[in-house]
Amino acid sequence: MTPPTIVTTEGAVGLVPDRFHTCWPDARPLLVADRNTWEAAGKAVERAFLQAGQATVEVLLFDEPQQVHADQAHVDAVKQRLGQGDLVAIAVGAGSMNDIVKLASYECGKPYCCVPTAPSVDGYTSPNAPITIQGFKQTIPCTPPLLVVADVTVLRNAPMSMISSGYGDLVAKITGGADWLIADALGVEPVDRKVWDLVQLPLRGRIGSPEALLSRDPVAIDSVFSGLVETGLAMLLFGNSRPASGSEHLLSHVWEMKGLSFDGELVSHGHKVAMGTLITTAMMTRITEIPLEAMVSSWKRNPSISFDAQQVALETCLGEKLDIDMLRIAKEKYLVGAQLQERRDRIASHWLHIQQRLRNQLVAFEELRHMLERAACPVQPGEIGLDRTMVRYGMVKARIIRPRYTVFDLAYECGLLDGLIDEVVDSGRWFASFA
Ligand SMILES: [Zn+2]
Repeated sequence: MTPPTIVTTEGAVGLVPDRFHTCWPDARPLLVADRNTWEAAGKAVERAFLQAGQATVEVLLFDEPQQVHADQAHVDAVKQRLGQGDLVAIAVGAGSMNDIVKLASYECGKPYCCVPTAPSVDGYTSPNAPITIQGFKQTIPCTPPLLVVADVTVLRNAPMSMISSGYGDLVAKITGGADWLIADALGVEPVDRKVWDLVQLPLRGRIGSPEALLSRDPVAIDSVFSGLVETGLAMLLFGNSRPASGSEHLLSHVWEMKGLSFDGELVSHGHKVAMGTLITTAMMTRITEIPLEAMVSSWKRNPSISFDAQQVALETCLGEKLDIDMLRIAKEKYLVGAQLQERRDRIASHWLHIQQRLRNQLVAFEELRHMLERAACPVQPGEIGLDRTMVRYGMVKARIIRPRYTVFDLAYECGLLDGLIDEVVDSGRWFASFA
């Protein structure tokens, strides 16, 4: 896939016509926006086209009072307009708007342009679109935009909750990276050094000034946006979301499927993953504290069990039947007898190495909490409506919703998972307030 051309600067909306026509000399733009994003940037983009000599500009405005969701109806509406001749869409908006236009353009066999209105997600440049189809969220592989024109003035003026969410989604690359290091150490999924460097080398600098986001400092906003874009490009380069997403995202996905809301509003992706990042940091920190002998005696207390027994244990713990996808993933991850022993031996021989890797990769829990606090991200489960039951539920279920190997699998295979869940939720060392 061709990586997108990315223009990030103050006043970039004025550059859209020139860049658009450089990419597509014979095309006409179709601006796709909602009420808020039309005000934030859509109007200015239209004006720029008119000033550049475009006679008329086609606009598809989702003029709905409520937030526009990335669902089939909106995708179809864009496809209906876009199918006509020489139009190329410009998605003016944040995550959902971009996802709608990304999928619609892909299904029409057309490229598209994106004008982001908030530094809120890493999905702008990712090769997929999460879309709700018949009530279920599906992540559909599709082509990212060929052109991204990000106006830092527009990004700065985004609602603070969206800026804060973007920060949460970027901080998540710390634990996402840690999960990859674990999988790499065990030979499950090797780290791709080029992709790793793209995300991880600039990461500490990009998340280092959370308070500057609250004052809408342009350099800090640009830095977070760039970090999110780099992550999207890394996903594009790698071919899946491993460079961007680990155990913290799995927690977020579980809570999302449960419709996690607080004060009547759905909790944003970035705030869910911020909380996931804290929880998995707590868990990984505990892993670094467990001596090799204690880990080995833990697995000896937890001998290999049949798949049926494992299924019963999971269903009892979750209070629900596993659906067909979860059964498949649980089966794929299921190790028994000699296979399990082989994995455990490998974990034992790499235990000190894994602990050292985690120490090097993680931000200390207290420091991480302080960083998230300063960026107005939630730092207590209760702040996003999570009670103890839902945190436990997430930590059990996360392992079986995706094939990805994370710290949850490591802990499970060593017989440590249940004890670590108890410690993270109940010890009082990590979290003080639950819903
Ligand atoms: Zn994310």
